[in-house]
Amino acid sequence: MRKVAPSKRASSVEYAIRDVVIPARELEKKGIKVIKLNIGDPVKFDFDAPEHAKEAYCTAIREGHNYYSDSEGIEDLRKAIVERERKKNNVDITSNDVFVTAAVTEALQITIGALTNPGDQILVPGPSYPPYISFTKFLLAEPVEYRTVEDEGWIPDLDDMRKKITDKTRAIVVINPNNPTGALYDEKILREILDIAGEHEIPVISDEIYDMITYEKKHISPGSLTKDVPVIVFNGMSKVYFATGWRLGYMYFVDPENTLENLRDAIGRLLRVRLCPSTPAQFAALEALRGPMDYLNEYLKKLRRRRDLMYRRLSEIENISVQKPEGAFYIFPRVKIENGPWKDDKEFVLDFLRSKHVLVVHGSGFGRYGINHFRAVYLPQEEIIEEAMNRLEEFMKERTR
Ligand code: PLP
Repeated sequence: MRKVAPSKRASSVEYAIRDVVIPARELEKKGIKVIKLNIGDPVKFDFDAPEHAKEAYCTAIREGHNYYSDSEGIEDLRKAIVERERKKNNVDITSNDVFVTAAVTEALQITIGALTNPGDQILVPGPSYPPYISFTKFLLAEPVEYRTVEDEGWIPDLDDMRKKITDKTRAIVVINPNNPTGALYDEKILREILDIAGEHEIPVISDEIYDMITYEKKHISPGSLTKDVPVIVFNGMSKVYFATGWRLGYMYFVDPENTLENLRDAIGRLLRVRLCPSTPAQFAALEALRGPMDYLNEYLKKLRRRRDLMYRRLSEIENISVQKPEGAFYIFPRVKIENGPWKDDKEFVLDFLRSKHVLVVHGSGFGRYGINHFRAVYLPQEEIIEEAMNRLEEFMKERTR
């Protein structure tokens, strides 16, 4: 039989963060221990979901909540999401505005699917969290990256955003706090983005998966600022509730003028086709949302120390420059690739992996604005961060002029 050919659509899909894992696995097969700073999964480090939520997950299974739930999610959970979002963002929503999803990944897939026809465009931040680029391409639509300005802490370049809007633009995606840069946007910039979206009558998609992982300042949602522009918010259990493996998230609509009615209907239909998110995970999420959040203070203290350490060490290395992240758990340094033997940032990452056994992600995997950078997570314990930074320092001394 002939080899079965995948679709052209599928060939456009890549995920840099996981792609670099393959060469790392080869080293591990040889018995080499690799320091992994590539994946933003806090649960792989010394963070975990709150006990009360874990207990609720087990109880839900034991008590027989092993059925399909309603496609839009169990009502109690949708109500708990409303409570959380009202409290945090002061948004005027009800449970009818909330859909529970198999994490933000499903929310973004379905929303972009419901929004775009082939050839339509979605404005995404550059550098960007790769699935926004990949899924948009998979749907035969076009991700268009708006520049974010590194020297100003990776804040969106609004002139560039304006210039890139066409009659095919269907939405502006905002990722705040940002992956991969760790940027946190202030109210002024968010209001300006809402103004741009309003001028062009398009919605804002706001990915807030890191909303409570900030250090000096608090996160602001465009959903809490909008008067007329519709905002579709994505959030979930993966990062703030330290439950990446539950695959549970949600989206909600802040829609002051009810302009999203048809889109919501389309999203609702797509959600019905995929049946439902995991039912026991929804019971766990309910407990996570309603239960105490005091674990977060400790976690944030730990993360802040780790961020400060990695930022300080990176700032001291020659041929590397870095902005201080204000949220999430990523740092996105620039490397003077031209002062080393590498062709590009991917070669730099592979060389660093093979010679020093530390795995980071090449910046170009986050789109064209990521070129000549790399992304590292500062989730590991301080001794591991120190060790990784010692190796990077040594590596840069050996390789660069
Ligand atoms: N959105 C952003 C900005 C992310 O960084 C990530 C994961 O790294 C996700 C969404 C994925 O979230 P989930 O686990 O809810 O699918």
